[in-house]
Amino acid sequence: MTTLKACKECRRLVEKGRKCPYCGGELTTNWKGIVIIIDPEKSEVAKAIGITTPGKYAIRIGK
Ligand SMILES: [Zn+2]
Repeated sequence: MTTLKACKECRRLVEKGRKCPYCGGELTTNWKGIVIIIDPEKSEVAKAIGITTPGKYAIRIGK
């Protein structure tokens, strides 16, 4: 099973690497819940957590 990491800045889920390939933010394994955003403009979840780009995101990021 692949351990996904979440970006602390943009919440994107990333499979590899130490930094987020999208924004360069720090990655963490301490996250919960996956949300897949296909159409951010039509998604209430995307709006609620401030996502504007389609992709796979973590709902909660730990500290
Ligand atoms: Zn990021």
